[in-house]
Amino acid sequence: RITAGIVATGSELLAGRVRDANGPWIAERLGRLGVDVVEIVLVGDRPEEMDAALRSLSGVDLIVTSGGLGPTADDLTAAVVADLTGRPLELDEHMEKVVGDIISRFADRLRWDADALAEANRKQAMVPRGATAIRPAGTAPGLAVPPGDGVPTVLVLPGPPREVHAMWDDAVASAPVQALLERTEPFLETHLRLFGVPESEIAATLRAVGEHTDLAPLEIVTCLRDFSLEVDLRRRPGDEAAETAHDAVVAEIDARHGAAVFSRTGQTIDELLFDLLSGHTIATAESCTGGLLAGRLTEPAGASAHVQGGIVSYSNEAKANLLGVPQDVLDTHGAVSVPAVQAMAQGAIDRFGVDVAVAISGIAGPGGGTEQKPVGYVCFCVRTADGTEIVRDPVLPGERGDVRERSVVLAMHLVRR
Ligand code: ATP
Ligand code: MG
Repeated sequence: RITAGIVATGSELLAGRVRDANGPWIAERLGRLGVDVVEIVLVGDRPEEMDAALRSLSGVDLIVTSGGLGPTADDLTAAVVADLTGRPLELDEHMEKVVGDIISRFADRLRWDADALAEANRKQAMVPRGATAIRPAGTAPGLAVPPGDGVPTVLVLPGPPREVHAMWDDAVASAPVQALLERTEPFLETHLRLFGVPESEIAATLRAVGEHTDLAPLEIVTCLRDFSLEVDLRRRPGDEAAETAHDAVVAEIDARHGAAVFSRTGQTIDELLFDLLSGHTIATAESCTGGLLAGRLTEPAGASAHVQGGIVSYSNEAKANLLGVPQDVLDTHGAVSVPAVQAMAQGAIDRFGVDVAVAISGIAGPGGGTEQKPVGYVCFCVRTADGTEIVRDPVLPGERGDVRERSVVLAMHLVRR
């Protein structure tokens, strides 16, 4: 088992101005490589704080740091790591050239004088003895420092997330990291995604499995995200007890909640719909969600292949004028009603000439609720040009923002059917 700790440095992270994006991203990547992340630490820019954080993680096999690699005086990570690992900083002449080329391209924008540029250049090309420098994506090279004398392997990356992402493959390919990864194998993972099952029910299901099967060898993480329940199962290849536990958990979830499982690969509802809609066309008619569904459907590149468009018909007039919802439907049943969304969906099919239309109309609140139609009452209609239709009118929990977002996700799951 290979363990890792992640140290994200930057006083802006502690001040709450910037949310740490590197810790979770790096943790996910390490997990895929079979490395157990045991801690993510946020620490300020002061060298003694950084040093203390690194020392507190000395029990792990790998420490990954982000931030503090830049050319300015407050960027001290390389010096702290050199100190910790007892490796003097030496000029890497190849990196000096690489960094020099990059810096000269930024020189005009930086408005630094020649001395400052040369100094920044040199500082960035200083590498702890025996470490591997990782080609920069911005101006700062990363460092992969081999283990030694009670100090784990240390991988030093810059702060800007874009740079971390761009440098990751090179960092993993560096000799010190490869030497570590040789001792482990990627986990076997199953990513179940369920919609419409509360977390408490999955907990009960897992408890039931646990009564006859030892679940300890299997790592089980459940998490509610985007109104879907994620159940991630992770095990080591060749661990038979973990495999038995895995199969028992999957079988029981299938038996109890099979209809709610929409993905076994971690695919999101957005990705699933994207695939499903290939070769078809879709349009939206939205009231209480104000275009959020159309926004979501058009998020992925290439959505133009199936999304024709959408109409935000917030007022009764818009429902009548833009979608042709009959006045007597609005008068008799109201704008938030099953007949209204049916007419909205048909209006979208007629106007856009699509195969599928989705209509949403509801009471997001906080005002506007009545006894018959309380806040959270939302009507959905998914209708196809050839006349099939799905209609739902649940009362959704939560306040305004929740109701609107939940409506979008529910609508996407109705399209999936
Ligand atoms: P450079 O100074 O060359 O850009 P650096 O390695 O010195 O690189 P930092 O100065 O630590 O990086 O951070 C630069 C910027 O990157 C920060 O101001 C912040 O906006 C962003 N950043 C740094 N660390 C994180 C993080 N953990 N999560 C999200 N953003 C971060
Ligand atoms: Mg910096």
